[in-house]
Amino acid sequence: MTNRRDFLRLSAIGLPLIAAGRAFGQKMPASRYTMPVVVSTWDSGIRANAAAWNVLKAKGRAIDAVEQAARSAEDEKSCCVGLEAFPDRDGYVTLDASIMDDKANCGSVAFIEHIKNPISVARKLMESGKHVFLAGDGALQFAVENGFKRMPNQLSDDAEKAWHEWLKKSEYKPVVNIENTKPKAGNGPSAPMTFDDGRFNHDTMGTIALDADGNLSGACTTSGMAFKTHGRVGDSPIIGAGLFVDNKVGAATSSGVGEEVIRICGTHTVIEMMRFGHTPEAACKEAIRRIVDRDPKAAKDIQVGFVAISKKGVVGAYAIQKGFTYSVTNEHVNKTLPSKSWFN
Ligand code: ASP
Repeated sequence: MTNRRDFLRLSAIGLPLIAAGRAFGQKMPASRYTMPVVVSTWDSGIRANAAAWNVLKAKGRAIDAVEQAARSAEDEKSCCVGLEAFPDRDGYVTLDASIMDDKANCGSVAFIEHIKNPISVARKLMESGKHVFLAGDGALQFAVENGFKRMPNQLSDDAEKAWHEWLKKSEYKPVVNIENTKPKAGNGPSAPMTFDDGRFNHDTMGTIALDADGNLSGACTTSGMAFKTHGRVGDSPIIGAGLFVDNKVGAATSSGVGEEVIRICGTHTVIEMMRFGHTPEAACKEAIRRIVDRDPKAAKDIQVGFVAISKKGVVGAYAIQKGFTYSVTNEHVNKTLPSKSWFN
């Protein structure tokens, strides 16, 4: 029989349990979301999430949801994703994309031209089961052989204007948070953003999702850094750099200067940290710390942001600089959140 002392002791133990119960019931910690849930980089991720949500709300698979998110970004006019994006320094738009599912199936295409939806080529490659990574002309050949339409290499008017502006100085200097940069005609690295109509407002689109069955997948698509050297490939199509999924642990994606992400196998690092107990935010912070530690002075001028989701739906992010954001959509929320950052 429970006496008064036992009752008080049990209550003392019970109260936090009840509180935790509430936390995991109706009122969960702010960073934990009920599944299905989808998370994308940047505020434009809200639009990508909408495409993913159409799949997830119908109890569809995370892999289908993230592909739809990436496709919707590729179909939009933007500076940094799809065929209308800014070209490389020689005037060619070359695209990178990767996709990964809950069984560690993955597919990537890099340095691919003429294809409107490289993410779907990456998925096709993943499903072909033979290779996981194709680049350049070979990736294009694979796409065309599999029914993807070869589009002309024609810069959009806005991208052409930006490129000609850039050619005046030909200075390659990645712009921190380019999607937040207010257009400033003819003014150093900000010069390319000469359009103030709000269309050129996003960067790499990385999307990670947890579906109603509790399975994780991710997709990442980009035109890479504007005015890059012809042939340059960033982190986005590299599994373990710009995207990584481990269905037992979580999924992570990145945006920012790809070279820095590749050096530390960024998203793989994030997932390994989570595997050993870090929260998604702490894991993203640790990956950022490694980049900053390598060259603290250089880190002051560059941006990298990571965002991750755990198997339980906890979402966290961390960036080098202020300004990195991520968007979260599920049954209850549809919002963009600011990431914490190393430098403030
Ligand atoms: N991470 C991409 C790349 O390096 C670019 C970006 O996210 O802005 O290609």
